[in-house]
Amino acid sequence: MRLCQRFGMEDRMAKIQMKTPLVEMDGDEMTRILWKMIKDELLLPYIDLKTEYYDLGLEYRNETNDKVTFDSAEATKKYGVAVKCATITPNAARMTEYDLKEMWKSPNGTIRAALDGTVFRTPIQVKGIEPCVKNWEKPITLARHAYGDVYKNTEIKVPGAGKAELVFTAEDGTEIRELIHQFDGSGIIQGIHNTDKSITSFARACFSYALDTKQDLWFATKDTISKKYDHNFKDIFADVYEKEYKEKFEAAGLEYFYTLIDDAVARVMKTKGGFIWACKNYDGDVMSDMVSSACGSLAMMTSVLVSPDGVYEYEAAHGTVQRHYYKHLKGEETSTNSVATIFAWTGALRKRGELDEIPELMAFADKLEKATLQTIESGKMTKDLALITELEDVTVLNSEQFIQEIRTTMEALD
Ligand code: NAP
Ligand code: MG
Repeated sequence: MRLCQRFGMEDRMAKIQMKTPLVEMDGDEMTRILWKMIKDELLLPYIDLKTEYYDLGLEYRNETNDKVTFDSAEATKKYGVAVKCATITPNAARMTEYDLKEMWKSPNGTIRAALDGTVFRTPIQVKGIEPCVKNWEKPITLARHAYGDVYKNTEIKVPGAGKAELVFTAEDGTEIRELIHQFDGSGIIQGIHNTDKSITSFARACFSYALDTKQDLWFATKDTISKKYDHNFKDIFADVYEKEYKEKFEAAGLEYFYTLIDDAVARVMKTKGGFIWACKNYDGDVMSDMVSSACGSLAMMTSVLVSPDGVYEYEAAHGTVQRHYYKHLKGEETSTNSVATIFAWTGALRKRGELDEIPELMAFADKLEKATLQTIESGKMTKDLALITELEDVTVLNSEQFIQEIRTTMEALD
């Protein structure tokens, strides 16, 4: 008994120390509840957690006129690594629900615009939750350009007959003008843009990530139809590859290839997985949803935003799980999957450990991930996974029990 107490004390004293703080961005609803449980059960007992805390919960965003979101993005640039909880993007219903001063923008949009990055999303594959594409043996990582295109569009609802033109005015006043359409009745038009600077950094982020993770890289757009816009992406990728990465890829035995998006979609279904698929902003949005759904659940996916300056923001790919939160508020039991949020923390802790040379922190991240997967593989999981698993002896756990079970599994590891 005394021995146990002594060891207990030593354990506490042996908490892993950190050097630089992580930028911690708290969020909303059910994911905010999970956030606290994860910290209390799985992190604080083992790590002397150093974070700079930003409350991105909607109430505080509203109170600070969204300044807190901008501040958290600046802090991410300063410290280099952030971990973010899912947040509400307000719509009309949220305006009333939270009595908002304004319909604040999506925090993810604000942070992506500030960091100008690429989002890498990878399904978390576990035994017992098999992808519906049977030949996908390894995860496919989606690399989504996180700037511009339809996400920064300008739209006009055309009221009636008239001429729509695309006009660019240079600083010296010269114009380039193209007819979009001669309308003979009402319709719709949209203007979108991207910049060579952002596309170039997107390309660099993809090539570097492929080299880092030793995986082939695919890039696909619709350049046959969009002969200037999409073609520009293709040309920039080809140029960056030739000048900066070709030799490194060849030395590492890796392949980069460009193909039409239609061809990529068809080919992806026939592969074994284990590569990176780079997509423009919109394609990346929907293709990552497709890949994650095919692998079981949005809650079984990692997501990291990598900026051209090597800044990392880890998050879960799913939302705030509003429906579960309302149940929680009514005092009902929830069975919300915390895996993606746990992996956001482990991703951030591992990166912090790598940058600050703290091997124990990296090892802890590995151990927590291993414990999470082992828990599921042993048949203990949340309801969303229980519905799709091929395992037979399954115990459905509530949100809290699942996290506690992971702790028990982790404590039993080596
Ligand atoms: P959601 O929160 O992802 O949830 C949609 C549905 O997917 C849930 O109702 C639930 O299905 C299932 N689900 C998602 N995550 C789950 C998990 N971890 N465990 C178990 N089931 C899970 O999307 P939403 O309801 O469309 O959006 C809710 C809020 O999240 C919105 O205000 C939106 O703005 C915000 N959002 C934030 C982010 C982000 O910050 N990254 C991303 C997307 C959406 P069942 O109800 O059938 O169990
Ligand atoms: Mg989406």
